[in-house]
Amino acid sequence: MIDIKSYDLSELKALIVNIHQPEYKALQIFKWLQRGVSSFDEMTDISKNLREELKKIALIRSAKIKQRFTSSYDDTTKYLFELFDGECVESVLMKYEHGYSICISTQVGCNMGCKFCASGLFGKTRDLTASEMLSQITSAQNDRGIRISNVVMMGMGEPLDNFQSSARFLKLVSDENGLNIGLRHISLSTCGIVPGIRKLAELDMPITLSVSLHAPFDDIRSSLMPVNKKWSVNELLAACREYQAVTTRRISFEYALISGVNDTIDCAGQLAEITKGIMCHINLIPANPVAENSFSKPDSITINKFKDILVSLGLTVTVRRTLGADIDASCGQLRKRYREVSSSEAIHKG
Ligand code: SAH
Repeated sequence: MIDIKSYDLSELKALIVNIHQPEYKALQIFKWLQRGVSSFDEMTDISKNLREELKKIALIRSAKIKQRFTSSYDDTTKYLFELFDGECVESVLMKYEHGYSICISTQVGCNMGCKFCASGLFGKTRDLTASEMLSQITSAQNDRGIRISNVVMMGMGEPLDNFQSSARFLKLVSDENGLNIGLRHISLSTCGIVPGIRKLAELDMPITLSVSLHAPFDDIRSSLMPVNKKWSVNELLAACREYQAVTTRRISFEYALISGVNDTIDCAGQLAEITKGIMCHINLIPANPVAENSFSKPDSITINKFKDILVSLGLTVTVRRTLGADIDASCGQLRKRYREVSSSEAIHKG
């Protein structure tokens, strides 16, 4: 079956012409799909005949709300979405002064194996299609009756390990006949897949590249992130420099502060050293505890000291607000809990 929501307008036109229908119908169908319908029957200005034709050859990959948690502290909502094959992914909707922002997943699970992250605990099940990335946005929008203006590809999965679909998603989500979310309002976060960063630079899109750095020394970074054994800190930073030379966009470095691991004065000094000459922003994230590991966040004195050193060395730094702290709103936590609950239910039932 054709994954029709992943088609761009020109591909859809070719498809429509191919089934002997007038080309102009493609735009109507494209708009319906990108607005988030989950069935062809919702396309009320499309003839029954054409809808039936489409049903025979195509499937709309939507994201069905399976669970929804809204934080009692703030307006953060975490969704667990079910995909057409029963797999689940998470998204987090956050409200900021300037509007709504959503953090979407790009894979079911993840193969990167970062030691502090809940998403990689079970490896990767499969890649998401562009349509499934889009559907996380449309489902949340339609659920809340809002317009989402910012997207971060920072949920479950590694977008550069699913390059083609991520690139297709970026093209579709910014289409003026679709969701029309400007590329400047989109961030893509990577654990540091160097060839992927180079390929992304070739697309020369004005998105924000966010790099999960987490440690400035190879030994510490390799112990936290297996990807560093393949591409070292040096190689990663070189790719970031090249990326910036092409796109002229500021890079954002994510740095999860983990008590006793990467929160030393030495680490702060080295972080400033290796990012010299890169126009960047450092985003410090107090590590979220995950039951399967023993990592914890440093106390606030240590966090502030780390930040102050970076600021004194001329860097732009923010400490990430922890939104939705009461709803397991960080990467992979909800799906993990859902798997636990459903498997313990299965055991009880069994
Ligand atoms: N694979 C991409 C995007 C998904 S992870 C990447 O690695 O960037 C999204 C962000 O959350 C990454 O910066 C990741 O390192 C961070 N993260 C994952 N688990 C975390 C935890 N327990 N505490 C703090 N940050 C975490």
